[in-house]
Amino acid sequence: MKKLISKITVVALVVLLVAFSVAFVGCNGSLKVSGSAKNVILLIGDGMGLEHLEAVAAYYQLDKLNMQSMTGFNGEVTTHSRNSEVTDSAAASTALSCGVKTDNKSVARVDNENVENMAEFIAQYNMDMGIVVTEKATGATPSGFASHSYDRSNDSNIFKGYMASGVDLFVSQYDEDILNEDRESAIINAGYTRLNSMADLTENAYSAEKIFATVDAFAGYGEDGASLVDASMFAINYLDQKSENGFFMMIESSYIDKIAHSGDFEDMARELRAFDETIKAVLDWAKQDGETLVIITADHETGGLLYNPGDNFDDTLFKTGEHSGVNVGVFIYGLNGDDLQGKTILDNIEINHIMCGYITNFRK
Ligand SMILES: [Zn+2]
Repeated sequence: MKKLISKITVVALVVLLVAFSVAFVGCNGSLKVSGSAKNVILLIGDGMGLEHLEAVAAYYQLDKLNMQSMTGFNGEVTTHSRNSEVTDSAAASTALSCGVKTDNKSVARVDNENVENMAEFIAQYNMDMGIVVTEKATGATPSGFASHSYDRSNDSNIFKGYMASGVDLFVSQYDEDILNEDRESAIINAGYTRLNSMADLTENAYSAEKIFATVDAFAGYGEDGASLVDASMFAINYLDQKSENGFFMMIESSYIDKIAHSGDFEDMARELRAFDETIKAVLDWAKQDGETLVIITADHETGGLLYNPGDNFDDTLFKTGEHSGVNVGVFIYGLNGDDLQGKTILDNIEINHIMCGYITNFRK
C-alpha cells in the first residue's frame, strides 16, 4: 500500500512538474517586470532597421516618426537566432512569441519540440487574440504566434495549427494558394465568419464569434482603401468589445522587408510611413484605454540600409539585398516606471518576457 502511494505521489509530482514547465516555457525568462496590462499590442515592422527610420523621417521631412517621438522606453534589440547571427522571420517570431531562441526556419519549435506560443500562453487566462498582417496568413511572422512548424514554408502544417489555435481574428492578404477549397471549408468548420474585403470590416462584423478576413492588395498605405491602420483599428475595437479578460494582438507591416529586399526605397518609405500612422492610431487608443501595453519593434533589419543626411533617396541606400544582423529598435508604451531601469539594449526574447510578465501580473 505504502509503495503504491509513493508511486502515485511520484507520478503526480512528475505530471505537475511537466505541466508547470510547459506552462512557463517562454515566460520564465531572467528579465523580471513589475508592471501589468489587461491588453498587449505588439507591432512588428518586418525588416525595419533603425536606419530605415532615420531615412524615412528625412524623406518625409519630419523631425521624427511617431514611434521615435513616443513617450516611454526607446531602445535597441539584438536579434540573432540560435544558429545564425542573422535571423530570419521564423526564428525571430519564435523569439518574440515564445521567448526562446531557435534555428532559422523553425516556427515555435526548438529541435523536435513545440514550444508554447503566444496563443497557447494567453489561453490559460481566457484572453482573446488577433493577428493582422499585410502578407499571406501563413507568413513566417504570424505563424510563430499561433502555430508550430519545423519549416516556415510548410503552409499546410501552419494552417492546421491556426485552425486549432483559438485565435479570434485573422486579417491577412488574400492568397489563392493558401486558401484552397479544403481550407475555406476548414475555416468555416472552425467557427470563423469568413470576410473577403476591407469593406466587410465594419461594425456589422462585431457580432461575429470569430473572424477570418482576407483583403486583396493589402498594402499598408491603403491603395484601394485597404490600409493597415483601418484593419488594425477595426481589429482592436472588435477584440475590445468582445474581450472581458483582455486581448493580445499582433500587427505586422510585412512588406517593409519584402520591398527592402528589392531595394526600392520610395515604396519602402511609403509602407513604413503607413506603419507609423498605424502606430499613432494604436497609441491614441491605448492612451484612452489606460490598461494596454504597446510594443513596437522589428524582427530583423533588411537591406543593410545606411543613411547620411544629403544622400539620395534611392536604391544606393541599400548595401545588400539580404537581412543583416544589426540591432533593431524597440519602443514601449505603458511600461511601469521601475521596469527596464538602466537598460538600453534588450534581446528579442526579453520582449516576450516583458509581455508575458505584464499579462501574468495583471491576473495575479
Ligand atoms: Zn526578409
